[in-house]
Amino acid sequence: MVEPCTLPCKHIFCIQCINQQIMNKTQCPMCRQDFQQNYLPQIDTDLQSKIKLKYPQKFEERNEELKQQGLLEGNLVKVKFMYGNDHKLIPNPKKLNSQHLGEEIENKHTWTVFVRIVKSQGQIIGNEAKKFISKVKFGLHPTFGATEQTVQQEPFQMTKIGWGTFEVPIEIHFRRETGKRDKVTLSHYLSFNGHGETKWFTVTFDKEKLEQMSI
Ligand SMILES: [Zn+2]
Ligand SMILES: [Zn+2]
Repeated sequence: MVEPCTLPCKHIFCIQCINQQIMNKTQCPMCRQDFQQNYLPQIDTDLQSKIKLKYPQKFEERNEELKQQGLLEGNLVKVKFMYGNDHKLIPNPKKLNSQHLGEEIENKHTWTVFVRIVKSQGQIIGNEAKKFISKVKFGLHPTFGATEQTVQQEPFQMTKIGWGTFEVPIEIHFRRETGKRDKVTLSHYLSFNGHGETKWFTVTFDKEKLEQMSI
């Protein structure tokens, strides 16, 4: 193991494996202990030094292998984002005649779909979403009179008043300087339950590229 990670529960995994495991559920695969949603695995550098001392040749071989594959965690920065929607009820909503439904409905839900940053590993360039994201495109139900809305500055969110839920496509584009060319495409089904619903996802960036960014 070249890049060991000691979890809060003290179980040890290789960081590539644990990153995969906790992508959707921040929990130890061994003892099932739940970690905070913003937990990001870090390389245990003390343990790493010990392994390197004990097995110098094997360490170098494996290190080179991971490097060739672009998997060496030490060269990467993980950033955790959250997306979803907030929701509030409007006290005295307007009544509307919906052509779409053919009946009278109450326009009583105010909601905000958002993409926010949770945490960046190593905190190299801070925790503002705009340092990573150039724009976010939110899809809309045709009854809103437009099929999408593009947000090019923080906060990356869209607020509307409506009467029904629908699937909101979310397209996240990253700043050129981050070296991330491919966009992330997600989909969020609006939730009008209580305060809404939030999910998480992690994006990997090249550490060197981020360090070169002038911000
Ligand atoms: Zn592994
Ligand atoms: Zn554990």
